[in-house]
Amino acid sequence: MPRFEVQTRERVVFVDITTQVAAEAARSEARDGVVIVYVPHTTAGVTINENADPSVRADLKLALERLVPQSLPFTHLEGNADAHVKASLMGSSVTVPLADGRLLLGTWQGIYFAEFDGPRRRHVLVSVLAAR
Ligand code: ZN
Repeated sequence: MPRFEVQTRERVVFVDITTQVAAEAARSEARDGVVIVYVPHTTAGVTINENADPSVRADLKLALERLVPQSLPFTHLEGNADAHVKASLMGSSVTVPLADGRLLLGTWQGIYFAEFDGPRRRHVLVSVLAAR
């Protein structure tokens, strides 16, 4: 299974992984199909959003912090309950169409690894399913 590592450097950060995903997809024998990007973690997720203005990522961070502040009376004893909730809000996978070996992302779209309990060393799995 193709995979790559992401070393996050903050507790909450969105890391642009579009280049790494495109590279894994390009290495595949499949030229057309779908690419599934999967994050095997419970306090991190993956999402697709704007890649042009970095303030969009800052706004995502702000909105998630307002929706799910660390100060809520959580019961999970590890102290990272907010990170688990935020990871579920983002989801653990995204699917991108593949055409002629290239990701069919929109002009302003990028794929972001969403860290909510960093800094940590994380993994991202990339599956390429060929269309017949
Ligand atoms: Zn936990």
